Amino acid sequence: MFDYSTETLKFRSFLIPLSAGFIATILFFPLSNYVIRSSNPVALAHGFLLLIIWSGIFTGREFTFGLTTLAALVLAYRSMQAPWTTNLALVAEVLLFYKTAQVGSAFFAAAQDLHQSNTLSANQLDEEYNLLQEEVLRHQSRCDALEEKGARFRMLGEAASSLGSSLDETEVAARVVAETTRVVRGEVCHLFLTHEGSMRLQASNLAETLRKAAEPLANDEFNQAVIRTASVLSVSDVTRDFRFKGISGASFQSLIAAPFIVGGKVVGVLRVHGSKPDAFSTDDLRLLAIIAQVASVACDNSRLFARTREMAMHDGLTKLHARWYFNDRFESECQRALRYKTKVSLIITDIDFFKKFNDTHGHVFGDKVLARVAELVKKTVRKVDIAGRYGGEEFTVILPKCGRDGARMMAERIREIVEREAGKAMPEPVKITVSVGTSTFPDDVDKVDSLFDAADMALYAAKSRGRNRVVCAAEVGTK
Ligand code: GH3
Ligand code: MG
Ligand code: MG
Repeated sequence: MFDYSTETLKFRSFLIPLSAGFIATILFFPLSNYVIRSSNPVALAHGFLLLIIWSGIFTGREFTFGLTTLAALVLAYRSMQAPWTTNLALVAEVLLFYKTAQVGSAFFAAAQDLHQSNTLSANQLDEEYNLLQEEVLRHQSRCDALEEKGARFRMLGEAASSLGSSLDETEVAARVVAETTRVVRGEVCHLFLTHEGSMRLQASNLAETLRKAAEPLANDEFNQAVIRTASVLSVSDVTRDFRFKGISGASFQSLIAAPFIVGGKVVGVLRVHGSKPDAFSTDDLRLLAIIAQVASVACDNSRLFARTREMAMHDGLTKLHARWYFNDRFESECQRALRYKTKVSLIITDIDFFKKFNDTHGHVFGDKVLARVAELVKKTVRKVDIAGRYGGEEFTVILPKCGRDGARMMAERIREIVEREAGKAMPEPVKITVSVGTSTFPDDVDKVDSLFDAADMALYAAKSRGRNRVVCAAEVGTK
């Protein structure tokens, strides 16, 4: 665009002043004519030179050169009429001013070039600044995106540690939903888990009143698709997705879902719904898949823990509470009785001549007798009572807030139902009976610690008095 070759610059500094001078001569011809006719050539020459300097300053070099040329022409003409010394002085003066104008002109040219190059640099700088600005904006948005990603992954880390810090199945499920809602920023989040082969809504971020409406989703097409493919599912518009034709009236427009896989099997589906189409990004789906992976392990652990605890808490054969758990409960019920000054009773049952069943019909039969009697004991006692297997064929029951009469009544009920029902369900008809001993604090014993011994003594008395009977501690004098 700009040509700054040396040749061009030379051409400009030589030709342009000359042509400008020529034009100025023509333009100033009337003035020149007046000057030529003037009487004092020296004064006129000075006047012209002054004009040249001022015009040079105000108009730039081209006009200066023009006027210099004009002045030279005028003086040349006047010199014909002036003495030679005056002419010589004038010529010297003209030359001096010509040189001054030339230097001025060069200065102007340099200033102009500098200005042009400065303008050019400024433009280039502007352009570079704009490019840099764009680059900065691009980096800024990339930084924002990275920061956002970082924040979400931090949340994911927090979610993982939150999920791993509980072993309670219900709590873990609630946390899965809460953390998913936080990380994926879904409006509605459901967790479906399999229970005995069928998928059920386990947890949801919906209010309790709205949760019922979400229950049928457990077996809808979307969950089935996740179970079938054992992989994530993303539906940007449920009404338009060719894979799920005929979906209408859904309470959501888009969804993402991820499977819970344990031991190669899909045991659950974690779903997030959006009320608008395209509510979720690929990142959302990726995060959901990671949460589902972590959460499925957490849920499996909690289930395993619950199962193990259940197994440890209960006796495998009779399903009654195991001795250690029973002892724990016994301890806390005694403390409660002491604190609130309430009564607490204990029942101990023992199957009569149980050894005989083993010896006659075998141990498997004996086990069946045990299980049946335990079932009847459990069925008979109240919900608040705690039944346990204390020894081989000895069962115990804690009866909180129950006095001597209540305990006797309950013991009698147990004895009765065992006598009436237990033998019926056996492979061979047998007579099954139990002897029962009861004790009550503070009715029969002064200390809660004595409840066991007192009930045991009563049981012993029931055995020695002919079996299939109930004896209270009070009857054997434990106080
Ligand atoms: P009693 O009327 O005096 O109570 O007579 P009993 O035969 O019931 O005597 P005892 O209470 O001493 O017998 C307990 C028997 O229970 C001994 C043991 O072989 C048997 N037994 C203990 N635990 C189990 C079990 O889990 N399964 C089976 N089949 N038998 C058990
Ligand atoms: Mg026994
Ligand atoms: Mg026995």
